Amino acid sequence: MTEHAKIRQFVETNGRRFVDTLKEACSFPSISAEGLGLEQMSDWLEDRFKGMGATVSRLEVAGAPPALLGEFRGMASRSGSSGSGSGPPDSGRTLMIYDHYDVQPVDPIDLWHSPPFEPAERDGRIFARGVADNKGDLVARLCALETYREVFGELPFNVKFFVEGEEETGSLHFEQICRAHADRLQADHCVWEGWRIDHEGRPELVYGCKGLLYVELRCRMLTYDQHSSNACYIPSAAWHLLRAVASVKGADDKVAILGFYDDARGPQPEDAPLLERLPFDEAAELKRLGITAFADGLTGMELRKALIYNPTANIAGFVTGYTVPGAAKTVLPAEAMAKLDFRLVPDQDAGDIARKLRRHLDDNGFADVELETIGEENPSRSPTDSILGRAIESEAASWWPLEPAVWPLMPATGPMYPVARLLGIPICSPPGVTRPDSAIHAPNEQIRVDDFYDVIGYTAAYLSAYGEF
Ligand SMILES: [Zn+2]
Repeated sequence: MTEHAKIRQFVETNGRRFVDTLKEACSFPSISAEGLGLEQMSDWLEDRFKGMGATVSRLEVAGAPPALLGEFRGMASRSGSSGSGSGPPDSGRTLMIYDHYDVQPVDPIDLWHSPPFEPAERDGRIFARGVADNKGDLVARLCALETYREVFGELPFNVKFFVEGEEETGSLHFEQICRAHADRLQADHCVWEGWRIDHEGRPELVYGCKGLLYVELRCRMLTYDQHSSNACYIPSAAWHLLRAVASVKGADDKVAILGFYDDARGPQPEDAPLLERLPFDEAAELKRLGITAFADGLTGMELRKALIYNPTANIAGFVTGYTVPGAAKTVLPAEAMAKLDFRLVPDQDAGDIARKLRRHLDDNGFADVELETIGEENPSRSPTDSILGRAIESEAASWWPLEPAVWPLMPATGPMYPVARLLGIPICSPPGVTRPDSAIHAPNEQIRVDDFYDVIGYTAAYLSAYGEF
């Protein structure tokens, strides 16, 4: 019997019990935005870790829900080169597994077909808030660890589960937790949350993420709104802010902030073959969006490159004056407000870009426009040739029928930077239980039961490969 066959058999035999564990995890309303259920959820998780033989610590910093560190000590390596059953928990090679136990709010609750915290099974799927993002992956990994031990014996390396409780509110204390507990968080590699399986069932994995700078620009010029007949002599906050926002991009659609692109690293030589293999159905995407062409006429390889390596400047909102559709009110508004988000690529720094934006506004006649940073996360990418990456990629290729897609960098943002850069741990995010139709952050969040089984088995398989490299 092959390794995969042994794993599949164990998962099949224990599948219903694994599903029950997942449903139990999803019955806690651990909504970080509302400060709900986080204690109960972290207690439950702590009990699970302890029940499996882990040493558990709560990594505390003021104002944050506890991050849990569940440490499993590995036995001597199968190749005899690392790990020691009698040594301290951090001897030998150590694999960190990062997940989060908090979930998004459930609104709008009316659109749910079953209560979000009463996990329900329909049509081979499990519906619950958090089942895809990211309790499904977290529980699948616990089940995978059990599977590995039952099939192969003790792990030949240490495993540290690092599970935070405020990812869904922007991981505000995550960097602080990493700095304060850096000694405890040392590891050789890190499995990061879970990436996804695409529409066609193709596994996808990523090695990094873009960063984000989110700012609010405000301009107030008058004590209160004025009659618009006086626009001939009264200055307009709306026009002023509109020009300030317009100045951020040039006519060529490039960001015009001085020095914005200085630290933006383009594709690395090793990325080229990965980009060639990235699936991107342009026709389907155009249809989905209801457009006939992408921005700047992008297509083919240039489109893929832009998606991964281009930083962006996006207008997320612009509010001023009277906005009732179909009605008229002749008003000269006293103030205007805009929200902008910038997706950043390695090695841009969110704080540095915010300072450059301030200088840009000052130098272009907009010193009176207020700038407030609402959120910032730095981008990060890890090498695509790590031992962990090789284990994750090769096992994905043999576990699923379709060749895996490898993203050097995902277009979205996550809190990878403190782990990858501050702690210096190379990251890879393997295919997880999520599909594009999993409705993460939305009503009726769901995963397929078969994907859950696959991710458990596949995780046990790459843990085994990681131990052998
Ligand atoms: Zn999320």
